[in-house]
Amino acid sequence: MKVHYTGGLVNPGIVDDHNGCVSLVQSIQRGHQDGNGWLDIGYSFVACPHRKVFEGRGLHHLPAANGPGLNSGHYAVLGLVGNAGLVEPPDGVLHAILDAVEYVRERGDAGLEIKGHRDGYATDCPGEPLYAWVRAGAPRPGGDGGGDDPGDDDPGNGEGGGGPEAPPFPGRLLRYPPVTRGEDVRTWQRQMKARGWDLDVDGAYGAQSRDVCRRFQRQQGVADDGVVGPVTWRLAWEAPLS
Ligand SMILES: [Zn+2]
Ligand SMILES: [Zn+2]
Repeated sequence: MKVHYTGGLVNPGIVDDHNGCVSLVQSIQRGHQDGNGWLDIGYSFVACPHRKVFEGRGLHHLPAANGPGLNSGHYAVLGLVGNAGLVEPPDGVLHAILDAVEYVRERGDAGLEIKGHRDGYATDCPGEPLYAWVRAGAPRPGGDGGGDDPGDDDPGNGEGGGGPEAPPFPGRLLRYPPVTRGEDVRTWQRQMKARGWDLDVDGAYGAQSRDVCRRFQRQQGVADDGVVGPVTWRLAWEAPLS
């Protein structure tokens, strides 16, 4: 799933008025159909502050919101926040996004990955607050357990399992080609080696690191794109050793 925001002004009044959400979603749909000439709103789903999920294109349909070439790889969910007005996502939006995520995993053959539109595409979307939440592993607000992710270490849910905690995601994707170099790569490689994988800890993410990443992703049941994003990063520390 890729997470999006509107990129424009969202009237904060919708927080107290679900009819406002409906009007906003319809206006976005009109823009996509009549303005862009698309067959429907570009998103698979839309999440509003009242923990309601609007069905856009829905399951098993290509979205149009992720950018050329990326729509076939990810569903798209729009959180009803923008870059002005309602900027910070209310808990209801986050819950609704995760409800949509669970739905596409159960019924829509989606993998475990949750990313932002800006992952792999040049855009500000989904805005800083929503993207920070995605990078933090998209936890359920309030720590109600969620069940959205097997590696869930939601700090509020009192699991107390004492498991290891991943260092913060570096904020960029580790991928190849071309070779990604840096201390973040070295940190990930060191951890993977400690887990028993055979790779060089040289700070250069090349074919060898990518292949290890792919095998690890398959082992963990997430999309094996060979790219270390927030989920794969976190699993390197927090997934139980098998
Ligand atoms: Zn977007
Ligand atoms: Zn609403």
